Amino acid sequence: MIRVKGLQKYFFRHKRNEIHVLNDMTIDFPESGLVVLLGPSGSGKTTLLNVIGGLDSVQQGTIEFDDQQINRYKSSTWDKIRNESVGYIFQNYNLLPQLSVYDNIALVLKMVGIHDPNIIDQRVAYILKAVKMYPFRKKKSTQLSGGQQQRVAIARALVKNPRVIIADEPTGNLDSKNTIDIMNIIKEISKQKLVVLVTHERNIANVYGDRIIEIKDGQIIDDHLNESDHEHNVSEENILYLKDMNQITELGNSNVKLSLYNDSDQVIDPVNIRLIVKNKTLYLDIDSSLTKVRLINESSNLLVKDEHYVKKNKEQLLETAFKTDMLDNKDVHKSFRTIVSIKQIFMLALQKILYSSRKGKIMLFSFIMSGAVIALSIAMVSATIIPDLSNMRYENNYVRVRQTQFSKMDYDELVAYSDDDAKLYVNTLGTIEISVLDPLNEDKALFKLQYSKGMFQPADSEITLDIIDHVSRSKIVKGRMPQTHNEFVITSELADQSIQTQGAEFGVWSWDHLMLEDFEISGVPVKLVGITKSDRNIVYTTRDFANMIKPTSYLTQAPIYVGTLNATIIGDHYLDESLITQGQLPTGDQVIVSQALYDALYKLPSGQDWPKTFDDFDYTISGVFTDTERLIVGSNQIIEKARYDKVSSFYVYSSRPRALVSTLEADDIEAILELDEQTNIFNQATIQARITTTIVTLVIIGFTLLGFYFIMHSSMVSRIYEISVYRALGMKKTEIFFSFMIEILILSTVTSLIGYGIATIGLIQSSNTLIGMFRAFLVTPLTILIGIIILYLINLIGGMFPIFLLLRKTPAQILAQYDI
Ligand code: ADP
Ligand code: MG
Repeated sequence: MIRVKGLQKYFFRHKRNEIHVLNDMTIDFPESGLVVLLGPSGSGKTTLLNVIGGLDSVQQGTIEFDDQQINRYKSSTWDKIRNESVGYIFQNYNLLPQLSVYDNIALVLKMVGIHDPNIIDQRVAYILKAVKMYPFRKKKSTQLSGGQQQRVAIARALVKNPRVIIADEPTGNLDSKNTIDIMNIIKEISKQKLVVLVTHERNIANVYGDRIIEIKDGQIIDDHLNESDHEHNVSEENILYLKDMNQITELGNSNVKLSLYNDSDQVIDPVNIRLIVKNKTLYLDIDSSLTKVRLINESSNLLVKDEHYVKKNKEQLLETAFKTDMLDNKDVHKSFRTIVSIKQIFMLALQKILYSSRKGKIMLFSFIMSGAVIALSIAMVSATIIPDLSNMRYENNYVRVRQTQFSKMDYDELVAYSDDDAKLYVNTLGTIEISVLDPLNEDKALFKLQYSKGMFQPADSEITLDIIDHVSRSKIVKGRMPQTHNEFVITSELADQSIQTQGAEFGVWSWDHLMLEDFEISGVPVKLVGITKSDRNIVYTTRDFANMIKPTSYLTQAPIYVGTLNATIIGDHYLDESLITQGQLPTGDQVIVSQALYDALYKLPSGQDWPKTFDDFDYTISGVFTDTERLIVGSNQIIEKARYDKVSSFYVYSSRPRALVSTLEADDIEAILELDEQTNIFNQATIQARITTTIVTLVIIGFTLLGFYFIMHSSMVSRIYEISVYRALGMKKTEIFFSFMIEILILSTVTSLIGYGIATIGLIQSSNTLIGMFRAFLVTPLTILIGIIILYLINLIGGMFPIFLLLRKTPAQILAQYDI
């Protein structure tokens, strides 16, 4: 049934210390009988046995198992064979110390698919009785002697009624009495099954073997059937046969009887013994030249027989009560489930947490810490990767248009692009300053409204001016919309920032306080009437007011050239009617100019009536007012157009911003949605920070991964024995992998996830403090979710890696690693 052909195996192949451990081994094993592999230590017996049992691979050769021809080692094929057809007995027993005797054996039945508790009970009881271990079924293997452990190990190998029993020096650690007992059981098994037994004791081979294969240096040097009728000359050392000794003395009366025996002819010195009985205890006071004294009673495992030692013949030696019929599993219902249930793994993991050692507690603590570290680094990365759009100056409706001064389109041309958008507004207003006036000295500013948010904020944090049409009434969270031209509204963010940066110093602690203050924009007194909900820094005034004030930004402050003249153009609300000295207020496209400008104009010879036109002036003039500055006053349209002519980069408010962008772009005009542009600016500003944070985070995550690897590695090393036993018994790799995975998931949940949760709560709390102002961390539901996924991934990868590496080895390699 098992045939191996041309097996070649090397350890350390092609290295200087190469061992040719199996050198062209060909053996044809019979259906049943006891085949002994006999050879000195190091000859390759264990290796051969491992190969036959699928615990190890060979470099060359084939193995036939039943009808299955196995050319290349595949662990899943072997796991199945080992699980169903092979019972392994190891020299060092390899019982699972955490399980009882009963459970050690029941485990194997579950592995072959028998889960019926009654059948399990019956089988385990039978096999334990057969090896005389039934009374010890509840004990842990660590409480048993070597002989007892080996009996349990034999029971474990037999209980699933395998086709083949493989035994690697099963009596190597046993005394002679136990050796005989164990060998007798094995011999009995071999009457119906194939038993491949490895030993280096020729004696055992000769007494028990049906066939003896002698091995030396990885080669078969002899292979013969054992027909001789050897007697077991292993003396029964634990029985004292009195008839085989010299009786020297026999004393006695009604109270005491004493006799002295000696197994040698050598004369011994007199032995003085005093027997004292006190408190129902017998005391022996011995004075003798013999220093070694042993007491014979029930616990001593010694027996005194008043008879001669009779050498037993082979039949007598092989007497045993063991029968294999009771273990037939052919008709038993089998179902394949995982051996260790998820519930058991769960309990195991919980136990680990609750009853862990000091080292274990440090490990769990480091799991919790790693959770916190991951939360921190994810929040850090999120803060840099996810753009802080609160620095955007305009709402999403704005399109930024850039053109060169020379190839600039007309204002009307631009309006034409808008496709009849009634909301279209070209914002060329620029930036302004707003001061809070000192109530004691109206000419002095107490402080200015300021905006200074964010670590990566663009350099100019000046306040942008926009018209009130772009605020929806529903967004006013305090006060109301402006009604007259000197009323204005600011954004909530600007209000908060102004209070935080300077306002609080001057007793302005709230929006209510702020709204009581007197303000001034470009020297014009104004009233704050409302606050609108927004993350941006914008002041909204009426369109009339926006056009009438003199802006602070360079571009729009510079004079407008009208022909060869320069002048400043401002809105008509600036004008006090009583200042008009000639003509009247302008209507439509007309403007009214200051005396200073009028004087500078080239006068036409004919006396024209108002309104007048001049060759060197573009606008029709409706009149003149008193002022020493060169000023032009006109309608909003005229001013906005004039301002437009001065700028090459401006914002266009549109109700269909994306459509406008594509129309402009189709004509090769550079146009970007404000939202996109600000995102780009932000991205560029933060790219450096982003790289740094990402590297830092990767390093942190790398260390966490490494930490997990080492922690799980050490946890696994302590369980290599357990794993190797499971593997040797034929448990599938996937099942072991799976159970570790569940365990890691449970451990991660009760440790790392808690650390993660605590750190996340901490971060959310701190985002309301100073740290939050710098936006060093960002925590949103999405980042929390991503963080949790990353956390589990790290734990799984770091934790499973050592197990993955271990399970790549053959069971023999794992066993060997345990032995080291
Ligand atoms: P035996 O069981 O007959 O004592 P083994 O099969 O255990 O012999 O070992 C045969 C030879 O192979 C020995 O020299 C041993 O040192 C070597 N050997 C066994 N297992 C390994 C291993 N996993 N790695 C390297 N060398 C090994
Ligand atoms: Mg060996």
